[in-house]
Amino acid sequence: MTISTTSRLAFLGGKQAVHDSQEELFKWPIVTSEDEKAVLDVLRKGSMSGTDVTMQFEQEFGAWMGLDYALGCCSGTASLHSAMFGCGIGVGDEIICQSPTFWASALQCFSLGATVVFADIEPDTLNIDPDDIERHISDRTRAIMVVHYTGYPADMDRIRPIAQKHGLKIIEDVSHAQGALYKGRKVGTFGDVAAMSLMSGKSFATGEAGILVTNDREIYERAMAFGHYERYKGNFETEDLNAYYGLPLGGYKYRMNQMCSAVGRVQLKYYDERIQEIQDGMNRFWDLLEGVPGLKAHRVPEDSGNTMGGWYNPKGLYNTEELEGLSITRFAEAVRAEGSSCSPGMNKPLHRHPLLNTCDVYGHGKPTRLAHSDRDLRQPKGSLPVSESTEFHTFNVPWFKHDTPELIEQHALAFRKVAEQANDLLTDDPGNPSGMGEWIT
Ligand SMILES: *Cc1c(COP(=O)(O)O)cnc(C)c1O
Repeated sequence: MTISTTSRLAFLGGKQAVHDSQEELFKWPIVTSEDEKAVLDVLRKGSMSGTDVTMQFEQEFGAWMGLDYALGCCSGTASLHSAMFGCGIGVGDEIICQSPTFWASALQCFSLGATVVFADIEPDTLNIDPDDIERHISDRTRAIMVVHYTGYPADMDRIRPIAQKHGLKIIEDVSHAQGALYKGRKVGTFGDVAAMSLMSGKSFATGEAGILVTNDREIYERAMAFGHYERYKGNFETEDLNAYYGLPLGGYKYRMNQMCSAVGRVQLKYYDERIQEIQDGMNRFWDLLEGVPGLKAHRVPEDSGNTMGGWYNPKGLYNTEELEGLSITRFAEAVRAEGSSCSPGMNKPLHRHPLLNTCDVYGHGKPTRLAHSDRDLRQPKGSLPVSESTEFHTFNVPWFKHDTPELIEQHALAFRKVAEQANDLLTDDPGNPSGMGEWIT
């Protein structure tokens, strides 16, 4: 018997919508003997700590981005830290960033003596709300950190004029969005500099690494001076750096491990093709759910010229009113009972974490967030309403790496079945616990 949307819910004892085994559908990154050989070459040469392979990778990655300079780093965190320093962010400065994001979009600024002010997000894109940026700008603001959250390109045409008007740098955090297009052009090419994670969980996965890309020679050289002592020679175009070469200005060692650079070179060759398949699979899934009450895709509009890149950690948007008030917690449980995967929430809003409110990390005698501030810029509960309600309005959906119609149809059926029979789940709905979503996803 085939399962249909009217079949009894698995949560209530019926048969599961997802019944085929599907490891391959989700496996990532795709590793072939070519990746293995590339790593073995580095190992056998003993050149794990060299820079020759990394420089080849930088050259190829920069060309793929269409930018002049790329700098391989040991993590996305390191690359974003270097980008901040590259932009000249220092003591007393402020950056503006969206609140629900992975911490490494922002926290590194503390070690530069700078601080972060959070802006709210848009409920549909989950990206920084361009209309909420200006009220957070002060005479100390130096940069806007733009995250293309889960591959959804931020609205650069609205953000760029704001940065221009106030003389701010734009740093793009592309950790979720390598290869995503905004109006036909790659994200990461709109700001002064972009930096991103290339760790194994991301869509561009090389191991544990990150990369910074820019057209700005000074930013590139400052980033190199910050954490790449062996490449910081006395021949920089940015003359005031030449007096100090040989030691890293930041006191950091941010070089990329060449086993990762080697994997990166191989992954890059196939990346466009592989994310195209992800996009086809994810769009197939959401097309099958078009018009289902309560559920909306977190995806770019068709014909916008935008794409979702590798569609990192895909999300759906939940409307409880359209489902008779069914809690997102019970909804997700019922989808999991069907054999698919679903969990409520996304990154929690950073402004609510005690590190951003009370913690004195370095012994300034006051919270680190205010260490060099002339005012209390902490943001209380209720100050960023959209960011604070995401846990009730967003949920994780399966991240398909292949466009396999029969299997994707089973997963879509799981979601559709539960949404269309939401009524049957209302009895005994325990509601939502307080504090869903994750600090680390
Ligand atoms: C993963 C991630 C980072 C940090 O990258 P690492 O490689 O883990 O250091 C930064 N920003 C965002 C948005 C991320 O998701």
